[in-house]
Formats: sequence, C-alpha cells, structure tokens
Amino acid sequence: MLYYDWTILLLIPGLILSLWAQSRVNGAYKKYSKVSTQRGLPAQEVARLMLDGQGAGNVAVTSTQGTLTDHFDPATDTLRLSQGVYGSSSVAAVGIAAHEAGHALQKQEGYALLNLRTVMVPTVNIGSRLAWPIFVVGMISSWRPLMYAGIALFALAVALSLITLPVEFDASRRAKAMLANSGYFTQEELTGVSAVLNAAALTYVASFLSALLSLLRLLLLAQRRRR
Ligand SMILES: [Zn+2]
Repeated sequence: MLYYDWTILLLIPGLILSLWAQSRVNGAYKKYSKVSTQRGLPAQEVARLMLDGQGAGNVAVTSTQGTLTDHFDPATDTLRLSQGVYGSSSVAAVGIAAHEAGHALQKQEGYALLNLRTVMVPTVNIGSRLAWPIFVVGMISSWRPLMYAGIALFALAVALSLITLPVEFDASRRAKAMLANSGYFTQEELTGVSAVLNAAALTYVASFLSALLSLLRLLLLAQRRRR
C-alpha cells in the first residue's frame, strides 16, 4: 500500500533543495530589486537595446501581471516582463529582462534545445498530469502495461526538465555577456545580476532533481509490485 511506503522518503531531498532554491531566489530578488543601476535604464529599454543590437527588432517587449512571471513567448515573439521588472531600473529587473532577451535570441538563432523544448511543452504538460493517475490505476488493477505507461509519461516530464537546464543556463550566459559588453553597468551591478540569475538557475536544477527522484520512486514501486 502507498501509506507506509518508504519510497516516499526519496522525495525529501528534492523538496528540501526546491525550498532552499526558492528562498534563494526570493532573497536575491528582494535584495537586488532595491538596488538601482547607476545608468538608470528601465529594464524594458535594456531588453530593447539587446534585441535590436542582435538583429531581433521584431520581438515585442510588453508588461504582464504578477511577480516573477517574466517570460519570452516564442509563438508570438513577445517578451513579457512582470510588473516589478517593467519600468524598473534595478539590478534584478535589468538581469531578468536580459535573461528573457537571451531566450528571444535563442529562438532567433535557431538554438535547437529551445525549439525542442517549445515542441515538447504542450504534450508533456498534458502527459505529466495523467502520469500518476494512470500509474495508480495500473497498480491497483495490477496491470503492468498501464503502470509502465504512467512511468513513460512521467519520464517525458523528467526529460523536459533536463532539457530546460541548458536552455536556462544559456539564456543567463547570454544575458551576463550582453550586459557586460554594453558597458552600461558597473562591475558591482554585474555581480548582482549574476547572483539573481544564478539563484534562478538553481530552481531549475531543483525541479529536475525532484522530478528525477519521483521517477525513481515510481520505478521502485513498480519493481516491488512484481514480487
Ligand atoms: Zn529563462
């Protein structure tokens, strides 16, 4: 039975790492959203400069609701900056805007992993929601093909979160390089940008690790069922 199942303990390291990474991001964002850059360029203008400078003038930069909801939408070539970022010239805002511009430039360049990620997202999102129900039904009915179908769906979600890692690291690498090359920011500001972006990267590592441990747990549960 699932109740006194020790494999649930496998999820604890992922959970701890996720909570820690999340608190690091919140801390870095809170700290560096209060530190203004000397140049005073608002984040959307920083993004605009980077996009135009790299031949991505077609990408629109707009604002969106929420906190840390910043993202690049490859379907509409739109970079959406959250309320705390759009209009702000803080170190955090500039770093986040540059990171999202990095994603837009990935698409511009035809960066393969971003394309793969874009293709996978809709399917994997549906599949990962069905993974557990399918697995549990398979377990209750002791019908192995169904259990493995659930595991396969979950494995796709793990693969997606693995592919996300290089995509995110690359976007941050581009952001740091573009900000440094612009000559608009002090070394101290660039260090702050790195702190924010590195903390954000850690949350993606935590998500991947959590997903991987969940997959391991499903495999162990399926294995145990065999005996
Ligand atoms: Zn990103």
